[in-house]
Amino acid sequence: MNDSNTHVPSKEPRIDRRSLLKLGAAGAATALVAGAPSAAQANSGRGSLGVVAHDDFPIEISPDYKRFDHYHTVLNLAGRRGIPNMAPYYDNDKPGFAIPDYAMSLASATVFYDYLNDGLNNIHEATDALPEPYTFPSSAVAHAQIKRAARLFGADLVGITRRDERWDYSEVLHSEGRVRGETAKHQGGGVMIPGVRNRTLPWDEALPGFNPKTVIVIGCEMEYEALTTAPSQIADATANHAYSGLTSILMHMTKFLNNLGYKSVPSVNRLGLNIPYGVAAGLGELNRMGLLHNYKYGSRFRVARLYTELELDEYFDKPVTFGVQRFCENCLHCADNCPSQAISHDDKPTIYTAEDVKDRPYMNPGVRKWYTDGQKCHDYWIESGTACGSCITTCPYNKPNFWHHRLIDRLNTFLPGRAHKFMADMDLLHGYGKVFDAKAPAVFWNPKGRSYDGLKG
Ligand code: SF4
Ligand code: SF4
Repeated sequence: MNDSNTHVPSKEPRIDRRSLLKLGAAGAATALVAGAPSAAQANSGRGSLGVVAHDDFPIEISPDYKRFDHYHTVLNLAGRRGIPNMAPYYDNDKPGFAIPDYAMSLASATVFYDYLNDGLNNIHEATDALPEPYTFPSSAVAHAQIKRAARLFGADLVGITRRDERWDYSEVLHSEGRVRGETAKHQGGGVMIPGVRNRTLPWDEALPGFNPKTVIVIGCEMEYEALTTAPSQIADATANHAYSGLTSILMHMTKFLNNLGYKSVPSVNRLGLNIPYGVAAGLGELNRMGLLHNYKYGSRFRVARLYTELELDEYFDKPVTFGVQRFCENCLHCADNCPSQAISHDDKPTIYTAEDVKDRPYMNPGVRKWYTDGQKCHDYWIESGTACGSCITTCPYNKPNFWHHRLIDRLNTFLPGRAHKFMADMDLLHGYGKVFDAKAPAVFWNPKGRSYDGLKG
């Protein structure tokens, strides 16, 4: 595991400047990692208080768990429900929604939306026109090289895990039309587009001849200060910019692995589920919000994946836990502050059956977790004209490296529930955990004169 994912000291080869040069040379690279432990040892987290590395996936999964169908995601369902796409929303009299804020939000998405339907959020065919695969001196070196490249291209977090078909969609959506640039955000980016043919295909038919063995999971931080304004166009700007960063990194990583002779396919939000892949790759725990919860960033980052045929012979990162779920049992900041009441207030995570969610096909049963109602959340996005993010803003783990937060991290796994509750309350006393204007009634205006208020009514 790369220690900057969790701040867990590891015995993975240090990739300092001198090591970077050595990694490029096969003989020296072998020597560099000769004393290195297996991936399992490298990721054990020894020496770090309260962080536990797991051999197996650390979340209970029902034996009858079925792969999720992309057709049932909230965004696709919204199109079939006739929910309008997010409308342009700016108001010079409302802080966080002034025209420059909105312009910044749109600009931040430039890379993401310009490539939205050109591959990274759609089916991206693995190319066959590749050189003979390069043979790495060892899986340890390949592992280190991949992380070196991802960080050089801009990733804040990188984890590597084996492909696990449970987390790939059973069917993937294939949009045959293209929506580029700014129009994508407001005319169908990521959703069923009226007038454009969309169809689903089984994973293997969608990507014939592609047989990935490894999934590289990357994360890009969202700016703390910008996110404290959520929900606003400023908070949207940092989320959009993280997606643009992920898109750029994936494009570079795909080329990198293709240049080495390995078919690779990038995905931001399509082809499968980011969060369980992120858990498996050691990027964090699953929290009450239903998001990936990293040791350093909390949930203040966005995630994407790269599938590749490169095999790493089990030299993978390990899942880690550091007491997040126990903390969530006693901290309800995100649930209490969610304007759409989409986040569960249940004491403990639970496992829904298919019967439990038969009227909510956008939920993924068979996993022990707190189930967030994604449809309520998305309806609020449309109402507010933003991608909200208030839940992440209110989370005590969201903060930068202030000493009292790191103290909470260190003590977290050893303290009982009441202490967790006290720590969550202290976060409020320190002035954190507030959202910008969550209760403000959404008032919509757009240049075409359409009004989208009252969606919930
Ligand atoms: S993004 Fe907003 S509406 Fe959605 S779950 Fe978080 S707080 Fe609730
Ligand atoms: S706000 Fe509290 S309950 Fe919600 S994810 Fe963060 S720690 Fe858990």
